[in-house]
Order: sequence, then C-alpha cells, then structure tokens
Amino acid sequence: MKPVRLTHEFVHYIPEKLDTGVLYVSLPFTTVIHLCCCGCGSQVVTPLSPTDWRLTFDGASISLNPSIGNWSYPCQSHYWIRDSMVHWAERWTPRQIEAARARDGRSDQRQSTPQRGWPRLARFVQRMRRWLRQ
Ligand SMILES: [Zn+2]
Repeated sequence: MKPVRLTHEFVHYIPEKLDTGVLYVSLPFTTVIHLCCCGCGSQVVTPLSPTDWRLTFDGASISLNPSIGNWSYPCQSHYWIRDSMVHWAERWTPRQIEAARARDGRSDQRQSTPQRGWPRLARFVQRMRRWLRQ
C-alpha cells in the first residue's frame, strides 16, 4: 500500500464527522481517534495511557506507539504512525493476532478499541473460530 500522510487536529471533544487522514487528538479525554488509514472508514480509537498508546508530538508531526492493529475490523489493517506518516505493517495471520492478544499488556502491538457495533461481531467471530477449532 502506498504511504499516507496524516494531518492532526487538537480538539476538546471528538467531532461527530471525522475526515479521512486526520488524527483528532483530545488531550482532555486522553484519546486519539482517526478513520482507519486503509480507507475503510472505520473509526479507530487509541486511548492514551501508560498501558495503551503513547503520543509523541514534536511541534509539527505526530507519532503513536505502539503500532495500530485493527484486527477487530473487517479490513484487519496494521500500521504504525510515525511523524504523521502511515507505515504499513504486514497483515497479521489469525495465529499472530491470537498470540498478540494472549500477550496483551506486555506486547509491542495493541489492539485498537472497536467502536459500537463491531465488538459484538468480533465476539461472534471469536466464538466461531473457537468452535471451528474444536
Ligand atoms: Zn481499515
């Protein structure tokens, strides 16, 4: 996938309508939200905390650590945001996703918070996977 340059906006509340390619940073709510960089339009919420994401702002560009793994979304995209540029990572296999989930809290990869609607689907998919393995 081709490189994507992001812009950012510091906001108090997250706006209702989000624009593609914009990182909305809410310091009062210690949250960053953006539309998935693959273009699928899913809202990706990355809470900022010592155990979630770290935001680096150098006065001009923004970096988020660790990487953003949207495996609760249909696109399952995975990327880093460094200096306001999207660096695409490899698409994860279900095995890698499970391994990352098992290591959650200690791993370099974290899962973004699914927005309403998707958690139920994600749980359903998880149940199906478990059922298929039996
Ligand atoms: Zn996507």
